[in-house]
Amino acid sequence: MLFGKLAEYYDRLEGVSSRLKMMEILSELFKEAGKKEVVETVYMTQGTLLPPFEGLEFGVADKLMEEAIALATGYTKEQVHSEYKKAGDLGIAAQKLKQGTKLKQIVKNDYSVKEVYEMMVKVARTSGQGSKDQKIGMLANMIASASPLAAKYLVRYPLANLRMGVGDSTIMEALAIAYAGGRDAKEELERAYNICSDLGEVGKAVAEGGMKEVGSMKVTLFKPVRPALAERLPTAEQIIERLGGEVSVEQKYDGFRIQVHKKGKEVRLYSRRLENITEMFPDVIKAVNSELDCDRIIFEGEALAYNEATGEFLPFQETIQRKRKHGIEEKAMELPLHLFAFDILYYDGKDCLSKPYKERRELIERLFGKGKAIGPTRRILTSKPKELELFFEESIEGGLEGIMAKDLKSPYIAGARKFSWVKLKRSYKNKLSDTVDLVIVGYYLGRGSRAEFGFGGLLCAVYNDKRDVFETVSRIGTGFTEKQMSELKSMLSKIKSSGKPARVEALVEPDFWVQPKYVVTINADEITRSPMHTCGKKDDKEGVGYALRFPRLYGGETVRGDKGPEDATTTKEIMEMFRMQKKVGLKES
Ligand code: AMP
Repeated sequence: MLFGKLAEYYDRLEGVSSRLKMMEILSELFKEAGKKEVVETVYMTQGTLLPPFEGLEFGVADKLMEEAIALATGYTKEQVHSEYKKAGDLGIAAQKLKQGTKLKQIVKNDYSVKEVYEMMVKVARTSGQGSKDQKIGMLANMIASASPLAAKYLVRYPLANLRMGVGDSTIMEALAIAYAGGRDAKEELERAYNICSDLGEVGKAVAEGGMKEVGSMKVTLFKPVRPALAERLPTAEQIIERLGGEVSVEQKYDGFRIQVHKKGKEVRLYSRRLENITEMFPDVIKAVNSELDCDRIIFEGEALAYNEATGEFLPFQETIQRKRKHGIEEKAMELPLHLFAFDILYYDGKDCLSKPYKERRELIERLFGKGKAIGPTRRILTSKPKELELFFEESIEGGLEGIMAKDLKSPYIAGARKFSWVKLKRSYKNKLSDTVDLVIVGYYLGRGSRAEFGFGGLLCAVYNDKRDVFETVSRIGTGFTEKQMSELKSMLSKIKSSGKPARVEALVEPDFWVQPKYVVTINADEITRSPMHTCGKKDDKEGVGYALRFPRLYGGETVRGDKGPEDATTTKEIMEMFRMQKKVGLKES
């Protein structure tokens, strides 16, 4: 398929206002891409070159792209920049300039999707001395040979800003329609995606070998598994009742989730968002190699910095400092990490996901705990709410976040929030049980003293994972520092959308819509019912939604680096939290 054809599909996608239509267009696109180009088409549609765990980034900034456009169109850098400022988007600027260019096309014919993909990989891999000019040359060459519409997407793709609002779930459904007879096959594709985290690979499998091939995909070393997530319940009684009898109650540490993959001496680490973070934790690598007596393993744990002198564990904010790239070695000495292993996904060539938790835990206890830096989480086994409550109180007193109760019979449920893990935190005893992670879908202009920032607040949404859409839940106008306001303004102005993005459902209208991309952590007083917001509205008999009361930005980070839009709090969670809040309220009164 020619890249120009792909650009036409992308242009259609950008214009649609419903997710259903989006899926239709995408399935047509994947069919047309065929076995030969489905992998590249999937990655391009995701806006990446390879899955995030491969760590291959474009390394193309606005300035570099402006130079490439100038070279390709014959306009000056200043002219390109001023067109960019006018359009607010470099893709559109390139499209306009291509329409007006007086330069002859360098190459007459269009490149194929595969060719463009390969050139983009080359652009990303070019580094070192002189690499800037080489990158500009390669990009300019592609832009010069493209139609104005194709140029728009050639520019947006390496800037990681395609502005189509397509999510992984939509891609999977479209692949199911294109290659597996219909939407029903999506569940099986999702299972495969959850264990390999590589949608290109899933696309290839289904296009080449149908569902048989997809069904045979297994956990593999150095392909991170999408993490299992926990549900919430407000009381010890409910946890025991829900999990049915005896449960394992582990301490819950507020650290940094790491998935460790080890094959011989080669060890790689992945974050919760499946990024390769091997370089950031040299002490964990050392500990894995010296304390673990096995050849091939995938396990998960929570890493926590601790103060050796006092024996105290440090809060998340301090552990996260370790993520900063500078001075890693010094930090490792100053704040050594302890890794609390809590699950095992693969051991000695065998997939452990389907083993019950009880067996996986036995394996953890057998394998870990011989050294100082890695050990199993502390836990008790109980069927008595009182004992669970006591262990919870003891954990809180020890400065921890709470507990995580686990169903002894449950397999490891990759990529999903299920009642096989249930968390209980101190804050659940207050009115609003937890902070929530929301996706920014729009923003407001400031008034009064905020006017100078051009930023007055956010419109935020939750993720409805059943329908793969974003439903608004809150407008947030407080809790920002001046620095955060200008940071948000600059980040959001780059992802503005000309209308409401297709997967956003809203009744209120912000000054500017943005593509769902960034996640913020929000604290609020409570959850209330609201006719203004779409969160939960379609799930409610009377059609009333949910909203947050007195929401404010929480924590040190402006946007969450470790969460994507589909990792945000879900509609279902908000509804459960509302129910929990009512129960706590009743108990108090
Ligand atoms: P939350 O982020 O509040 O939804 O809680 C889930 C997170 O708690 C997981 O992603 C882990 O990073 C972390 N965690 C801490 N201790 C444990 C544990 N014992 N078992 C599982 N997850 C844990």
